[in-house]
Amino acid sequence: MSSNAQYPRAASRRAVVIYSGGMDSFTVLHRAINEGFEVHALSFDYGQRHRRELEVAARVCSRLGIDHRVVDLRAIHGLIDASSLTDASKPLPKAAYAGDNMRSTVVPNRNMILLALAIGHAVNIEAPVCFYGAHGGDHAIYPDCRPEFVEKINAVAAIANYQPVEVVAPYLHADKTSILADGLAMGLDYAQTWTCYLGEAQACGECGSCRERLAAFAAHGLEDPLDYVDGVR
Ligand SMILES: [Zn+2]
Repeated sequence: MSSNAQYPRAASRRAVVIYSGGMDSFTVLHRAINEGFEVHALSFDYGQRHRRELEVAARVCSRLGIDHRVVDLRAIHGLIDASSLTDASKPLPKAAYAGDNMRSTVVPNRNMILLALAIGHAVNIEAPVCFYGAHGGDHAIYPDCRPEFVEKINAVAAIANYQPVEVVAPYLHADKTSILADGLAMGLDYAQTWTCYLGEAQACGECGSCRERLAAFAAHGLEDPLDYVDGVR
């Protein structure tokens, strides 16, 4: 266990972790636990098509014996439903993340909304740190995963409440392959994650999220333990 001295505002060892059930936040969750934090996990139901990830998240937290809340944001779904991730009538692009059409998967202001709630919860439970899984691979498409966003949200989280909260994105400059390397080094089992945007019984292997995940496992010469539709691997 390392100390949390790297988080200078941390007066207690409590942390909120935004945990979707996907492999990035699964790795962040375990990293926070391994760093000695008492983790309070938050998942958000914002009407995403891939609701399976919420079930996966609940199972993992239950197994770990950590506090987990699923925040129901479906009441505001109509405000942020322009994305193909949240509108089932829109086709989900089956392309690598670099494709311009992947922009349709951007949920309006998603991380700002989720972080606002997570920071509020952190203040509520006197947690000085809030983790989320922004990473380098998302920078091209998702503005709210970029370093300048994390820097600015940190500035706001420091002054928005009497208690400052530090927003930590440990993989901000890492790609999926290095996140996976870190998780494998921690002995994590990625069968306990859900990545596919379609949220069917088996992962599709074709959406941007599946492609990125499969490429990360391939880069390590490993087979992804997740169940994919026939013929993907
Ligand atoms: Zn998929």
